[in-house]
Amino acid sequence: MEFRADLHCHSTCSDGTVTPKELVDLALSLGLSALAITDHDTVEGYFLAEQYAKEKGLALLSGSELSTVHGRASIHILAYAFRPDHPLIQAFCLEQVESRRERNCEILVRLRERGMEIAEEELMSDERVVVGRPHIAQVLLNKGYVYTLQDAFNKYIGDGKPCYVPAKRRSARDVVEVIHEAGGFAVLAHPHLIKQQSVVGELLEMPFDGIEGYYSRFNFVRNLKWLEIASEKGFFVTGGSDFHGTVKPGVALGCAWAPEKTFNKLWAHFKGDAFFY
Ligand code: AMP
Ligand code: ZN
Ligand code: FE
Ligand code: FE
Repeated sequence: MEFRADLHCHSTCSDGTVTPKELVDLALSLGLSALAITDHDTVEGYFLAEQYAKEKGLALLSGSELSTVHGRASIHILAYAFRPDHPLIQAFCLEQVESRRERNCEILVRLRERGMEIAEEELMSDERVVVGRPHIAQVLLNKGYVYTLQDAFNKYIGDGKPCYVPAKRRSARDVVEVIHEAGGFAVLAHPHLIKQQSVVGELLEMPFDGIEGYYSRFNFVRNLKWLEIASEKGFFVTGGSDFHGTVKPGVALGCAWAPEKTFNKLWAHFKGDAFFY
């Protein structure tokens, strides 16, 4: 089978439904050659699966999808091949966990004011490190306060809705620097999903290393646009499914992937760095 490295997926450490080790098993059963677990604002998935992946013979690259902001636009930045224990990465993640916790509590207060009672503990689960709005939506659904997950966003917690509280985020520019300091590569995630497309030009002027050009539910023509931009700017092109398990039923692990050459470059850098740990 051809080489496939899915460099974008989520585990139970953030808002996915499959544990990090199960992701390794699933990747192997699908014949994938390599994987990066890119949970939102945490590297825990990498740590939980590292040894297991080694035993099973799957190349597991360090990864995370970091939440940032540029102007008013929410921007996701994929970090790869960084030192997972680097203090700046660890500090970034800790800061996000703490500010998200405060934000979630504020959201719960607003829901409570409207008669929807959710305790903070109800948002927690075994491996979960990073708690976000999708978890709040799930509890709202479980308790019968909404009809669907989408309904929760539309009525209460979506941007600008009555129980919405904005998140505290670091600037995209700062986060690219953090990733570089930690020895990694910064990749602009799913550029086609950025709501304010006008900011994409500004983002592309930042010292990114790559752009996510292969993505689930991407048609070839759209994909081509990002490939052209990448070659103009000298960025490499990564790819991944953005698999979340059962909460995103239309997206299968391995349905988008990075080219072998790109993966090899990331992997060589990661393994080279590993000698200096
Ligand atoms: P958070 O990082 O906690 O602000 O949560 C962001 C996540 O919530 C996104 O990645 C989406 O999965 C989900 N989300 C945000 N807005 C909506 C929306 N309007 N409809 C459905 N899902 C949404
Ligand atoms: Zn997610
Ligand atoms: Fe994302
Ligand atoms: Fe993602």
